[in-house]
Amino acid sequence: MKSYDVAECGAPLKLFERPTPQPAGSEVLLRVLAAGVCHSDIHIWEGHYDLGGGKKLKLTERGVKLPLTMGHETVGEVLALGPDAKGVKIGDKRLVFPWLGCGVCAVCKRGEEQLCLAPRFLGVFRNGGYADHIVVPHARYLLDIGDLKPAEAAPYACSGLTAFGALKRIGPVLKDEPVVIIGAGGLGLMCLGLLKAMGGKGAVVVDIDPAKRDAAMRAGALATIDGAAPDAVKQVTAAAPNGVWAAIDFVGASSTARLAIDSLTKGGKLVLVGLFGGDITLPLPFIPMRAITIQGAYVGSLAEAKELLELVKRSRPPSIPITTRTLAAADATLQDLRAGRVVGRAVLTP
Ligand SMILES: [Zn+2]
Ligand SMILES: [Zn+2]
Repeated sequence: MKSYDVAECGAPLKLFERPTPQPAGSEVLLRVLAAGVCHSDIHIWEGHYDLGGGKKLKLTERGVKLPLTMGHETVGEVLALGPDAKGVKIGDKRLVFPWLGCGVCAVCKRGEEQLCLAPRFLGVFRNGGYADHIVVPHARYLLDIGDLKPAEAAPYACSGLTAFGALKRIGPVLKDEPVVIIGAGGLGLMCLGLLKAMGGKGAVVVDIDPAKRDAAMRAGALATIDGAAPDAVKQVTAAAPNGVWAAIDFVGASSTARLAIDSLTKGGKLVLVGLFGGDITLPLPFIPMRAITIQGAYVGSLAEAKELLELVKRSRPPSIPITTRTLAAADATLQDLRAGRVVGRAVLTP
């Protein structure tokens, strides 16, 4: 099998050829049909997150080992099953849920594998989809894509689940009050479509880029606001007459988190998703006095991934633009994404 791996952080992805693995036990071997190239792959490739104030979180200190085949948005076709594998058959096309935990701890047993303290995320801690084959430890992580196209379904494993997971954390208020979405990139636009499919009231979208604000307007935003405007907070609160009850920050920079927190009404909630990096200083009394919640969200659970795919198959929210590239273009695609040259989602199709 072929894969394009991170052999050294920040260096070009390297082609590896290894014997195609045979699935053992409950494992399932799939031929990769589509592998999304996600923004977080840039952080993995660079090897760190920016914690603000010049501090960095090194991924090798979190247990990421090289060489690593990245790729956590993978759709594949079942090629072979281990002797104990059940639930899929050869030829099935499945989206791989990549956010695997240890499978045995209390957190995993509650179905929150994405929060397990001993993660086995595919494409992060274990080999993922920038390859022509992938081994998945158990068929329960393989989700039926129905008649969705592989390249269209792949991004739901990460960007789709992230947007959906963030919306789920808002709770029922999303049906009654507009949600403030900060960042109208692929994730923000996907969130807008899912919010509609979930019966949401609508979204006020904030972005500093006028082209992205136009895209959000076309995608059905109630209003768009330039996050760099000096009176951005005032504009955001004016666009939500009953107060801002929920904001989702897909950027995660100091300025965007600040804007979101300053816009919240009493009892409001910020769901922080983006990993741009930075820090903020917050007067503590404001948190109890305004009864605000700041919640971090990291992808979503296996059950949420299934719920999301059912929602997508049923209500067909507008898909974000997909650009397909060959597996051999893995490194070039990552660099294009890093330089901001990718519109929508880039998906490798080996
Ligand atoms: Zn991702
Ligand atoms: Zn666990």
